[in-house]
This record gives sequence, structure tokens and C-alpha cells, in this order.
Amino acid sequence: MTARAIFLDRDGTLVHRRHYPSRPEHLRLYAGVTPALRRLQAAGFRLVVVTNQSGLARGYFTEDDLRRMHDHLAAELARGGVRLDGIYHCPHHPDGVVPALARRCACRKPAPGMLHRAARELGLDLGRSWLVGDILDDVEAGRRAGCRTVLVDLGTEALPGAAERWPDFVARDTSHALRIIGAVEGLGPTTELAYRPARWRAAREVAVGGGG
Ligand SMILES: [Mg+2]
Ligand SMILES: [Zn+2]
Repeated sequence: MTARAIFLDRDGTLVHRRHYPSRPEHLRLYAGVTPALRRLQAAGFRLVVVTNQSGLARGYFTEDDLRRMHDHLAAELARGGVRLDGIYHCPHHPDGVVPALARRCACRKPAPGMLHRAARELGLDLGRSWLVGDILDDVEAGRRAGCRTVLVDLGTEALPGAAERWPDFVARDTSHALRIIGAVEGLGPTTELAYRPARWRAAREVAVGGGG
């Protein structure tokens, strides 16, 4: 259990948001993310995608479709010199229509099951790992697994209530999130570690009495 990892949400974090992507060309990487990932991988971080794919339970696409999408995503990253160490997905949802997948599970974020499974299979030290995601369910999964967390603030999330949904850092986009990790880990140039959108600052003061 020695390797450090960066867990990456897929939709809205690695690739542009889209309503239930189902085809390879629906996954479009954000500009600037690949070189940042390459630097972190070169510094020794494993790169692991953790993604809720309730579209499987809902019957919107199949495991074969998902495999094609993820082969495409891996190939696009590989063109930029990035090799993913794993892609873990949760196919479940309680409201699904596919009987085998229509259930509660321990892997759908905010549960930390995918991170724990990856840690077992890839020999990861969760306490030295990070999670980057664009919603608070990602943050909660990361925190419950013992990782540090960065929220990519797309402005879509209500402010967190419970403490386990507060991210360690907030970033304006995924490239910024990866620069934060590099800076905190002493790998790269410094960046705005204290970035907080104004609405976050105000809520944090109410929640914890200043700071943060
Ligand atoms: Mg997302
Ligand atoms: Zn699941």
C-alpha cells in the first residue's frame, strides 16, 4: 500500500459535461488537463478514474458501449502521454430498470467503495492520495476514503452542509485542481491555494467561524 493516486471523476472533471454520454465521441477531454496529468504521473501518482454510470442501470447504454467510451478516453489520454492505471465505474442505481443493477450498492459515490476497491487492487495508500471531482458526492467519497479532495467548482453545487462534504481545496477548473495538487505536493509552481468563490467564503464563515 505505498502508491499514491489521484482519483478522477469523469463527467465534468476529465471531460466536458453532457447528459448521459453513450458514445465514444461524447467524451471530450478538457483542454490542458492531459499535460497536467502527465506531470503528476511522472511524479509517481497513479491515475484512477472513478465514475458513477447509472445510465447502465437505467438502460441508456450497455457495458459494451461503456467499454468503447473508456477505450476512447484512454486512447485520447495516451496520445498525450498519459496512461490510466484504472477506470472503475458503478453501474447501479436504485431506480434503475435493469433488474441486476437496480439496487443500492457500496460503490455509487458518495460511498467510497470504488476507491477502496482500487486501493486493494492497485496497492494504493489512500491517506496519501487525492480525489478531484465536480460535485460534492465526489468530495464525500474521497473524504470517506481518507483522501484529500479538490472540488472543481462548476457552480452547479449547493454549498455543503455536513463537514464530510467540504473539500480541502476549491478550483476554478480541472487544470487549476491539478496545479493545486502539484503545488501542495511540492512538485510544481505555486498556485492559488486559497481560491474560494465568494459564495463559498461566506458560507464557510457561517459554518466554521472564519478561515478555510
Ligand atoms: Mg462529475
Ligand atoms: Zn454501485
